[in-house]
Amino acid sequence: MKNIVLLGAPGAGKGTQAVLIAKEYNIPHISTGDILRRNIKEQTELGKAAKSFIDAGALVPDQVVIDIVKARLDESDAADGYILDGFPRTLAQAEALSQVAKIDIALNLVVPFETIIERLSGRRVCICGETYHTSMLNGSDTCKKCGQKLFIRDDDKPETVKARLEVYNKQTAPLIDYYAKAGVLEDVESISVEKTFELVKKALAE
Ligand code: AMP
Repeated sequence: MKNIVLLGAPGAGKGTQAVLIAKEYNIPHISTGDILRRNIKEQTELGKAAKSFIDAGALVPDQVVIDIVKARLDESDAADGYILDGFPRTLAQAEALSQVAKIDIALNLVVPFETIIERLSGRRVCICGETYHTSMLNGSDTCKKCGQKLFIRDDDKPETVKARLEVYNKQTAPLIDYYAKAGVLEDVESISVEKTFELVKKALAE
């Protein structure tokens, strides 16, 4: 299978599509956001160091996430393809990744600004990595996959969302050009979960 990078603004549907891709192709879903949130929950040193950045909608320092990803890619289940969700987020991270991995495809989930706001304001997540929108939960607050209680991410608060979108535009959006120049970029319209996944599968089959 391929080594895949998933690009897109916050709320573009990266987490949702990454879960589906991982299941469909039986490859690990590597989300730096999930790894950092787990560390915060478990109050590890890494979690303590990362929390203030995340709560402010800022990026965690490059070297911290680069080390996390390098270690994760060394695990045996990543030998035959993986999906990177939320990494790289800066050019420095993309450069560091290129030293240790060959990225076959960068899927860029494209979504209008109004949709981002609508998605983030209704987002509920599980510590296991599943993501939901209130419109599909019928009032339930537990994860359909593992039964744990869903929560609203602290960084989905409106003030923080604004900061995250600014960070995205300034630091992460340039990666679209970076992977286009590398000849591996595929834009995918992020419409509904199902339609987007059909487009994703088509892009991956090519
Ligand atoms: P995410 O779940 O991907 O939206 O990530 C949530 C937060 O974790 C981000 O807003 C950042 O503060 C931090 N984070 C996740 N991935 C990275 C990364 N590759 N580089 C820097 N910070 C990150």
